[in-house]
Amino acid sequence: MLTPAPSATKPDPQDLLAWYDRHRRELPWRALPSVIADPYRVWLSEIMLQQTTVAAVKPYYLNFLDRFPTVEALAEAPSESVMQAWAGLGYYSRARNLHACAKAVVDKHGGRFPGTEAELLKLPGIGAYTAAAVAAIAFNEKAAAVDGNVERVMSRLFMVEEPLPKAKSLIRALTEELVPDDRPGDFAQAVMDLGATICTPKRPACALCPWMVPCKARAEGLQETFPKKQKKESGQLRKGAAFVVLRADDTILLRTRPPQGLLGGMAEPPTSEWMPDYEPSRAVLDAPIEARWQRLPGTVKHVFTHFPLELTVLFAKVAKGTPAPDEMRWTPRLSLHEEALPGAMKKVLVHALGDIPGGKAKASAKA
Ligand code: SF4
Repeated sequence: MLTPAPSATKPDPQDLLAWYDRHRRELPWRALPSVIADPYRVWLSEIMLQQTTVAAVKPYYLNFLDRFPTVEALAEAPSESVMQAWAGLGYYSRARNLHACAKAVVDKHGGRFPGTEAELLKLPGIGAYTAAAVAAIAFNEKAAAVDGNVERVMSRLFMVEEPLPKAKSLIRALTEELVPDDRPGDFAQAVMDLGATICTPKRPACALCPWMVPCKARAEGLQETFPKKQKKESGQLRKGAAFVVLRADDTILLRTRPPQGLLGGMAEPPTSEWMPDYEPSRAVLDAPIEARWQRLPGTVKHVFTHFPLELTVLFAKVAKGTPAPDEMRWTPRLSLHEEALPGAMKKVLVHALGDIPGGKAKASAKA
């Protein structure tokens, strides 16, 4: 393991906390100063914020709290309504785990989140970062919550030369050393705020940083070159076909994806398999229903975490009374916004039908 470059002055957590007291962000899930944070709200926000921006999360968080104001309300809700409230946030396994976690908190802990990092880690969907964040923020446990923002700050502060993800354990150890005995929850939020507002990936505002003096990378003028990262290979392009069927009573054919796996439990117009060598000219062989299929010009492109997807869209109109194939259903076009449609599938529907209710995802079709 590479050791970090020595720093002349050690970063002082109290300098960061003093900065936080003046510049903390006001966020809907954040308790007011000297008010104890509600673990349910902290946990919900931390799950939503994983790989999603604060701006994107805010409306979802407020809507979620409105629909499921307590962990009990969330645990008792049908999974379709949880998935529907989540639709659009992406990473749908998080929504399934969120629901499973709420049930576990109610069933095994009487509706109260356990107050330690170790116990929180045992709950579904709670990883090392979330357990530490909830333990620190809601229970004031001396835990180090390390996410991408924190990794960036620490790798610059200590000039960690080892690339990520290998450097994770070193960065965690460096963070742990800095967590103060008093206010560990505020410290966790302060580092998050520093990473989000000052120590940004591009052009960090070092002149405004409370750790400017001890920051090793800043002293060398190399701040933007940290964290070091191992080159990752992007996933191979997968292709497939999506089938949009409009019945004469203005309903659309949909199905629900299996609960496990990518977009598990989400709704979609039927699609073919997605694979690198899919041949769109043969797509009609995968159609879910006998109809006069029209292949629409262009394709719909979507990038998932592990691979990009390109879908050819086939469209057909069928007569009123046409039955839905097994495990599919007809949904009124005007009720599409009530379906848990992921962004990729909204793009498909917009591509075929023009605008749809709740169809904010813009079709990225290329002719
Ligand atoms: S001085 Fe600059 S690079 Fe160093 S921690 Fe502060 S903002 Fe980040």
